[in-house]
Amino acid sequence: MGRGSVMAAFKEIRNTAGDFVINRIAAAGVVGAGGGGFPTAFKLKTGRRVRTVIVNGAECEPLLKVDQELMARYPAELLAALAAVVEATGADLGVVALKEKYKEARAAMEAVIGSYPGLKLHLLPDVYPMGDEHLLTYNVTGQTIPPGGLPLDAGAVVINVETLYNIRRALEGLPVTHKYVSVTGAVRRPITVKVPVGTPVEVLLELAGGPYAEGYLLVEGGPCMGKVTGPDAPVSKTTKGLIVLPLDHPLAAVYQRDLNRGLKLALSVCCQCRQCTDFCPRHLLGHPLEPHRIMRAVTYGLADVALPQALLCSECGLCDLYACPFNLSPRQVNRRIKAELREKGFRPGGWAGSQPLPLRDGRRVPTGRLVERLGLKEYAASPVAFQGGEVNVSRVRLALKQGAGVAARPLVGVGARVERGDLVARTDGGLGADLHASIGGVVRSVEGEIVIEGGGD
Ligand code: SF4
Ligand code: SF4
Repeated sequence: MGRGSVMAAFKEIRNTAGDFVINRIAAAGVVGAGGGGFPTAFKLKTGRRVRTVIVNGAECEPLLKVDQELMARYPAELLAALAAVVEATGADLGVVALKEKYKEARAAMEAVIGSYPGLKLHLLPDVYPMGDEHLLTYNVTGQTIPPGGLPLDAGAVVINVETLYNIRRALEGLPVTHKYVSVTGAVRRPITVKVPVGTPVEVLLELAGGPYAEGYLLVEGGPCMGKVTGPDAPVSKTTKGLIVLPLDHPLAAVYQRDLNRGLKLALSVCCQCRQCTDFCPRHLLGHPLEPHRIMRAVTYGLADVALPQALLCSECGLCDLYACPFNLSPRQVNRRIKAELREKGFRPGGWAGSQPLPLRDGRRVPTGRLVERLGLKEYAASPVAFQGGEVNVSRVRLALKQGAGVAARPLVGVGARVERGDLVARTDGGLGADLHASIGGVVRSVEGEIVIEGGGD
């Protein structure tokens, strides 16, 4: 056999192994667990050259501890899964990017990584934001992703730590049935806990000893990029945190802000100081995003060419939570513009490649300073206990759409008996993720979501 045929045979073997990994991930219903919810099998089946697989261990939202705990507790499992993903994508390198300050996670990873010559650790500074794929890819590879582009445009694939944990389980044939969530803020016993997908938020509150504030707001996700939720809402495959904020906490007011009132306020007080633009991490990366200009256009009703720039906003919130002296919210405005442009089917013409601004390093915001500004110091200082083991719940509500893409189609009817891990809804190959029973029990509803009652397993 000549060298050419040997190489072809080797490529074929590698492709087959790659397909096996990706098919297992698809069958397990893995989606990005860091919040985005993009179906992981689609992300990995790139059809393009991948140089670096980056594991996003930045966990830059204050108060969240899920990824740090997983890296500290399951380094061997995570690195084995990363090696499989590197192999499946044909990448040259796998990099676990985590903050230098995550001492336990770092020590655990360093103790194992020597067994994997194709993997390495990359230490990140403690600034906010850092988990944004554009910022992370630049920090790790030194390459910028073009504005509006994907990490693949810089030869990278980015996956979250818990996603990697789920990939590891998928390789053993185990579907995604559970989710790790940090429950913090004004609760008696802050915890990070693993619960079945579909668990009601009120169960998380009980596990954390309950809120100690009289009136409170519940925020799903991190304090900077979360969204308001309620006690009945179910945990999804992307729920990372639950933050309890007393109603008189300044951050609670931010979450209850009304856009129309905000616009009126902006018209009267936005002084075009540019602070929002000067601190915008995407702007500092060289993207043509100038939130002060968008604010000017919107408040004066101008059809400015700046408006499509809103599509480049990551909604990190630094402009309204930190930069603006009047607490105005360019982020909220950008969110609205993005929704309207998408509704109209607007397609941007493409933005030119970017170069980071020389001022960038001096404008980065240390997490500690942001925590102080947001009035979260007390919560950030409280230890967050890790509660290992299983939590039994008697009722789960499984949304048919657990992330990006289409909703899954129920495969079970009302009254059906299901076991934990059974496939209960599928996407039939479309962009989306299959869904599995997270507890054993009886199906009570399949309208818009699958409700299972039972538990105790
Ligand atoms: S920081 Fe606030 S006041 Fe200054 S330009 Fe931006 S929105 Fe206007
Ligand atoms: S939320 Fe504000 S600071 Fe963050 S990317 Fe958007 S405009 Fe920039």
